[in-house]
Amino acid sequence: MSRPSDFRSDTVTRPPREMLEAMVHADVGDAVLGDDPTVRRLEEEAAARLGKEAAIFLVSGTMANQAAVAAWTSPGDEVILEAESHCIHFEAGGLARNSGAQIRPLPGRRGALDPSAVKGAIRDGSSLAPRTGLVLLEQTHMNAGGAVLPVEGLREVQAVARAASLPVHMDGARLFNAAVASGLAPSVHAACADSVSFSLVKGLCCPAGSLLCGPASFVVRVRRVWRALGGGWRQAGYLAACGLWALDRLVDRLGEDHALARRLAEGLAAIRGVDVDVGGVETNLVFALVDRAEALSEDLAARGVLASAFGDRRLRFVTHRDVGPSDVDAALAAVSAALRRR
Ligand SMILES: *Cc1c(COP(=O)(O)O)cnc(C)c1O
Repeated sequence: MSRPSDFRSDTVTRPPREMLEAMVHADVGDAVLGDDPTVRRLEEEAAARLGKEAAIFLVSGTMANQAAVAAWTSPGDEVILEAESHCIHFEAGGLARNSGAQIRPLPGRRGALDPSAVKGAIRDGSSLAPRTGLVLLEQTHMNAGGAVLPVEGLREVQAVARAASLPVHMDGARLFNAAVASGLAPSVHAACADSVSFSLVKGLCCPAGSLLCGPASFVVRVRRVWRALGGGWRQAGYLAACGLWALDRLVDRLGEDHALARRLAEGLAAIRGVDVDVGGVETNLVFALVDRAEALSEDLAARGVLASAFGDRRLRFVTHRDVGPSDVDAALAAVSAALRRR
């Protein structure tokens, strides 16, 4: 069988050949010793794009979030975050393991926190209560279908946090998708938080890496956590070269992924037995509501189309550089055929 149409995630993207060439020609050093020039260039570039003082290059988005929370909080602190956050559901309990943090999940509206609910959740300093240590945002919000959180709302949450002298971290794994979809610069989104992470492995097609950006004093603290988590890597400049290449060439094309996702969503919505909130597809994620999602994903796989089941009812399709219009056609045909057989 030919290569499957792989919609499981944008992390399945392979590095383009020219990216690999940039890697081969990278000037490298020892990143733990701080003298890998390509890592330093990437960190400077990331900080500049997000309008932050400094940045650190880490292996994954999970490590970026974990290191950020550890650097902002003390054990026993409470982290206020949206109830369907990646940090709660997909980071293996890391906030408890790595930071000894207690979570304070709040229900969101399409991933967005309600500023007054955040205000109400901030602890009053009683010695009986935990201390509130951090407010955490996610942009775009994965579990909310890749929703772009409106910056006005983010600013209100930030104002509430500031009034209580609380830092704000933004899990911006798909921050550039949010920027392209909203037409607002990444720095405009990033200005809504003190620290911001973004991923290179999703729509940006790199083999590994995330950046965590924020105040210089914060990044100094993160470097110690990074070392403690075992994140210290040496000639990471080879991977940083991929990141620099991708930031220059692959950001603007993310709009193509969004258009393709919209097309896929419209096609899926027209299939009996599938429910899709087409208007809610703002970026490159499409959640289709179906019966027995897991069984359907297996049936689709046998037809050469890969998608991820999220629980019993949701099937997630993600568009990226390695799928095109013909893959969307294949997906629509496979879903129709699979549901017709039920
Ligand atoms: C992908 C993702 C991450 C990080 O994932 P890694 O697999 O560790 O790179 C973090 N947050 C969100 C919202 C994500 O989508």
